[in-house]
Amino acid sequence: MKLKILVTAGDGIGPEVTNEAVAVLKEVASLSGHTLEFDAKRIGGIAITTDGTPLPADTVAAALDSDAVFLGAVGGNEFNSLPPDKRPEAGLLGLRAALGGFANLRPAFALKELAVNSPLRPEVIDGADILFVRELLGGAYFGKPREWNKETGVAFNTMIYSRSEVERVARIAFQLAQKRRKKLCSVDKANVLEVSQLWRATVIEVAAEFPDVTLEHQYVDAMAMHLMNRPRDFDVVVTENLFGDILSDESGIITGSLGMLPSATIGGKVNLYEPIHGSAPDIAGKGLANPFGAILTGALILRHSGGLEAEAAAIETAVRKVLEQGFRTTDLVRGKDHGYTVLSTTAMGAKVRETVKAVMSGQ
Ligand code: NAD
Repeated sequence: MKLKILVTAGDGIGPEVTNEAVAVLKEVASLSGHTLEFDAKRIGGIAITTDGTPLPADTVAAALDSDAVFLGAVGGNEFNSLPPDKRPEAGLLGLRAALGGFANLRPAFALKELAVNSPLRPEVIDGADILFVRELLGGAYFGKPREWNKETGVAFNTMIYSRSEVERVARIAFQLAQKRRKKLCSVDKANVLEVSQLWRATVIEVAAEFPDVTLEHQYVDAMAMHLMNRPRDFDVVVTENLFGDILSDESGIITGSLGMLPSATIGGKVNLYEPIHGSAPDIAGKGLANPFGAILTGALILRHSGGLEAEAAAIETAVRKVLEQGFRTTDLVRGKDHGYTVLSTTAMGAKVRETVKAVMSGQ
């Protein structure tokens, strides 16, 4: 198997964490005999400084010519005074639009070694493992008409979905559920909104293609509560753009640390993978960045663009083992007498590589 991966490391801690993740992917490739080819292009603040634009044309061309794009993070305080369409974040939005992915996958999982980092009680989160599938190109964020009329003092947005937009994201969610615990929860507000009634009716129609998956529906307000009360009951959760934005952030609480979480955006021309954290300018260049989110993003590349489930799982197992052995980056420890071994970004990357090697050779 051969996979061409474009790395757009971006700004701040982006290059630091993607370097470690790429090194882990290279280790996995050499152990498994698969070929991973890497290319690198600029995006965000670094591209503004060098090329005068947050998204150079050759970055888009290289992205469209690859099998997967691996983004670090964009953004930096020195660009904050630029107009929105000139800022580093515009590069990311432009890349997302060019690649066209409509299904944003965001895992939320509890790791017992990190239970102390979550404000939820260990017995509530223990074993929780949820995969959010958020529709990314529709709903209120893109619906027209939209307006803020400052004279009349009235503003409105349009939450709009077509049947085909719901169908395609629902199908992806059912397929993912088939590969997991075969449970899908669709979240809407069908007791109030017509757009949610269309959403629910369409999801029910698509369900007929997936008789092995158990489908349930939840209203978004109730779901916000269930996620904190009984997160273990959910496997794959599919929902529209705005609800997904809110619920997937809320569920980050289950993992307890921003630096741990990966994401993937699939369904378009080329899949886009990124850790959910930003460029963290406050810690950039200090060796303090937690590379786990980026490393776990690497696992998603292998799973969703390479079909390499065993290799993806080996990376996830290695991350858990490193945590079990008491290794932590600074963001994962509190206080002085924690008893953990605190590692820098690069030392943690090396530890994961060493562990993935042991996992893959069955040690
Ligand atoms: P952030 O995620 O960069 O940082 C929030 C806090 O979490 C900071 O204290 C940071 O030090 C810490 N943190 C984040 N990731 C970490 C990691 N891997 N290891 C250890 N600590 C980590 O969010 P922010 O501070 O709101 O934004 C900073 C910049 O990043 C802004 O310019 C923002 O626009 C941009 N941003 C980019 C993305 C992206 O590229 N996808 C996402 C969010 C924010």
